[in-house]
Amino acid sequence: MPHDLAHIPPSYETCIVCGDAPLTETHIWPNWLRKVLPREKNYISTVARAFHPDEQKERAISSQKFKRDLFSRDPLLACEACNNGWMRQFEDEVVIFLKPILLEDATIRLTEQQQKSLAGWLALIATLAEYANNHHPTIKRAALLHLKKRRLPPEDFHIYVARSAGPKWRKHYSYHNFLMYEGISSIDAVPHTADGRPRYNTQVSTMGIGSLLAHIFSGPASTPIQSYSIALEGSQLERIWPPKRSFWMRQDRLLEFPLKTELQDYETEILAEDLRFRINTFG
Ligand SMILES: [Zn+2]
Repeated sequence: MPHDLAHIPPSYETCIVCGDAPLTETHIWPNWLRKVLPREKNYISTVARAFHPDEQKERAISSQKFKRDLFSRDPLLACEACNNGWMRQFEDEVVIFLKPILLEDATIRLTEQQQKSLAGWLALIATLAEYANNHHPTIKRAALLHLKKRRLPPEDFHIYVARSAGPKWRKHYSYHNFLMYEGISSIDAVPHTADGRPRYNTQVSTMGIGSLLAHIFSGPASTPIQSYSIALEGSQLERIWPPKRSFWMRQDRLLEFPLKTELQDYETEILAEDLRFRINTFG
């Protein structure tokens, strides 16, 4: 059992953002969301694998699924000031439009600024979920500081959304982490964890939250990530980060919900595994 995915979740002494203490309970999901989406048996599933460049194929270091309800946990991750300050501010920004998106009880059009707020909030919850579950998160503290200061996801984040149709993915979380070697000069240059394992640098999180399906990935290797992004756009998923630029239109590029592209559960399962599969196939 690798330490980065032990059954025992990691515990922190100080705030994962600013380093202050004491820690306070950090809810990954806003409390109101728990009432809107009642508890279901669709728990977190997590799989970790490593990519070995020597073999040009993936070798599974570990593979496990475990039941831990991400949606009702309040892990000790951040200090009072971070929890009730900038993190809370993200929730306050999205609360006005998130509920109709999740429940589809109204048609809603997000402005570019609201799309950025949604992207920031999704980046934040994906990061908190990774820190809550993984002893060696791929997302660096600098990303959290960027989120705090700029109120936007870092540049190496990519966030796509679709409409989730299936019952399973109404409340479900899937996560993979990888080591991608692009930009690393030699195997010797791979950063290692304290216990001597290569430190993964790429993650993909897929979250079903009501009718919203969010696919959030981040990592330093730009070539595979870019080609993957192009594939996602070919599948009609909506990219909300990095933002699509409107070069010549002066008005906002609005994003209308419910989204046109709808994914059934089996399609979301494929999506959640897709980046891992592509790395495996195309190296
Ligand atoms: Zn803090």
